[in-house]
Amino acid sequence: MKKLHEMSLSSLAGLLKSGELSPVEICRAFIGRKNEVEPFVGAFLNFNEEGILEQARLSENRWKKSSPLSPYDGIPIAVKDNIAVSGERCSCASKILENFISPYDAFVIEKLKSKGFVTYGRTNMDEFAMGSSCENSAFGKTFNPWDVSRVPGGSSGGAAASVAARQVPVALGSDTGGSIRQPAAFCGCVGLKPTYGAVSRYGLVAFASSLDQIGPMSNTVEDAKIIFDLISGRDKRDSTSIDMPSSPVVQSLPGNDLSGLRIGLPKEYLETEGLDAGVRKIVMDSLEVFRKQNAEIIEVSLPAIRYAIADYYVIATAEASANLARFDGIRYGRRAQSDDLIGTYFKSRGQGFGKEVKRRIILGTFVLSSGYYDAYYLKAQKIRTMIREDFRKAFEKCDAILSPTSPAPAFKFGEKSDALQMYLADIYTVSVNLAGVCAVSVPADLHPQLQMPVGIQLIGSHFGENCILRIADSFEKNRKQREFIPSVQGGINA
Ligand code: GLN
Repeated sequence: MKKLHEMSLSSLAGLLKSGELSPVEICRAFIGRKNEVEPFVGAFLNFNEEGILEQARLSENRWKKSSPLSPYDGIPIAVKDNIAVSGERCSCASKILENFISPYDAFVIEKLKSKGFVTYGRTNMDEFAMGSSCENSAFGKTFNPWDVSRVPGGSSGGAAASVAARQVPVALGSDTGGSIRQPAAFCGCVGLKPTYGAVSRYGLVAFASSLDQIGPMSNTVEDAKIIFDLISGRDKRDSTSIDMPSSPVVQSLPGNDLSGLRIGLPKEYLETEGLDAGVRKIVMDSLEVFRKQNAEIIEVSLPAIRYAIADYYVIATAEASANLARFDGIRYGRRAQSDDLIGTYFKSRGQGFGKEVKRRIILGTFVLSSGYYDAYYLKAQKIRTMIREDFRKAFEKCDAILSPTSPAPAFKFGEKSDALQMYLADIYTVSVNLAGVCAVSVPADLHPQLQMPVGIQLIGSHFGENCILRIADSFEKNRKQREFIPSVQGGINA
């Protein structure tokens, strides 16, 4: 029998329905687990235990009156600190928003609250979602629950660590270039980056608006699908959002049989420099799992992928420099004392932003500046089109593309102190955002030497979520290592 805090969202919903568990019991069990392991994990920036229990009690009353808002009424979901929840602090792990309280709910939060979900704490992240390790948070480290000397990944590292350490069954993250998938892979959980436009960005603090998407993190593929189905859809406050087109063909496929589905393996991906041998082996082993389920494996080519990292860091920083201009000490958050207006801007931004955020603002301003715009920004947009075309062509031949999520398992703190080294670790994830397609990371196995979780990524075409989730679900049920539950042994914080 599994412990309560080890149960999935769907199992918890079953126990709520049968009356075996109440919302207060569920929330208390997760809070208990959180109090036990959080000193070693450090996943949360804010956690209001009383507020959580209050939400659970309200939910309990609804169940007592036989009028729950949904089968999930009373189940907790953790929220990354860049997604607005009315009345809660939304700091983006930045000093500049240290005391900022959201005046409204993000679209995704409205949706989840309308189904009775309990918003459960604010999870740590890289400042303004810029980073791949959570080391850029202004408010301290989050540790990988599998090995506290290693990073949880980023930028949604707190969300991934909280889900993997079973402090909460599901969480919301955001993904601009891999920030849901890479930490999910590092911590051994599932992370879905939806198609651009599938989920409204209303209430998500913008990093790079043409790349950002909110998505679920969970311990099972089924749970990721449940949350995705609840949060996706058209919202008039985000003009890029649309309702998901339905894909009945994929939904009607039977259980474990992937017959008729073609999985593409991009030859460029397995030739990349820096791909860890253990990770490579796990990807090759997973091919066998797919073959056994009758999927056809074919080779595809994504030649423009070699420009993806450079392209991403031009486009993302350009957009970030514009988006972050609003944080000037006047309208939001922290204001530094100065004698004049310009001084207030300079000091507020100078003191409020961390090193990586400043680096990106400077880089982004540079690539947009007159004289350099054509050479960098315009060129980057052209390359973005090439990358998109590569994917379009590949998806003419296959239904999903398989790759590692990250070239190596979770690294040690401080190991990638050189910014460029950190950027290179995004090799498999950024192109997905540039093309606007969807992708899911699923735990595949433990690394042979390091015993750390390794994830594989399944990339789908635009609005191909049902297809990749279907394949991921079947993989999850047939992979060698069945469960990914870390023991969470303290070291650093203990
Ligand atoms: N690691 C990438 C970056 O630093 C991706 C971040 C993200 O997806 N938010 O920009």
